[in-house]
Amino acid sequence: MRVHHLNCGTMRLARTRLVTHVLLVETGRELILVDSGIGLADIADPRGRIGPYRHIARPALDPGGTAVRRIERLGLDPADVAHIVVTHLDFDHIGGAADFPRARIHVTAGERAAADTRRTLLERSRYHPAGPGPEPRVTTYEPTGDTWRGFAAVRPLDGIGADIALIPLPGHTRGHAAVAVDTGVGLILHAGDAFYHHNVLSGRRQPTLLGLQERLVAHDWKRVRANHEALAELHGRGDPGLLIVNAHDAVLLDRATDPDHRREST
Ligand SMILES: [Zn+2]
Repeated sequence: MRVHHLNCGTMRLARTRLVTHVLLVETGRELILVDSGIGLADIADPRGRIGPYRHIARPALDPGGTAVRRIERLGLDPADVAHIVVTHLDFDHIGGAADFPRARIHVTAGERAAADTRRTLLERSRYHPAGPGPEPRVTTYEPTGDTWRGFAAVRPLDGIGADIALIPLPGHTRGHAAVAVDTGVGLILHAGDAFYHHNVLSGRRQPTLLGLQERLVAHDWKRVRANHEALAELHGRGDPGLLIVNAHDAVLLDRATDPDHRREST
């Protein structure tokens, strides 16, 4: 298995440069994405597809930065993307999925329900108007009682041969999840938007404006704080075989693409 760490959407939020960290997993048989970043359709129609959030997150809208174009530049065929496991359904995580019409999308049942019912004002404003796509492209998952390092976990995922688990971490959104990938030589935990800044992992303060923004878009801030503590505790165990990344921290993406880390994840 080989794992590529891709930036599929540079944004500028609360005076901070953010990336959109997407994992591309090559299993040898097929390609799997963890999150999908911002897609070509979003770039062609930011007003319709992203909505008012484009003024807040200020995505760069660069076609060359999309997952589909990055996969092509790696010499791979985007048509081989068979699965997309998403942490949640905000535009910067599901938007790129439209560029892979044959891929199956995997998401928690709670997140799918949140995007479908849009119960709160925040949910009505945040979810991608196009949604994750009609059934049967989407497979949803309820908690099964399985665990991963003390966290609730759902695996195996339907039709995915690789060891990839959804780790429900609701808080940022109603059904938000992290995604754990066992590469065979190490583990990668993609925490999505469970935290924004790498300081959270070491229990240090994050930049104030970024923290405020994180709170502003949180479905349940108490649970976000509890997730921060749980992930800091996991990080604090110092397991050299575990790489924790998230969706938007540029420092964590740089570390993941560092040759030493890449050796661990290929
Ligand atoms: Zn995000």
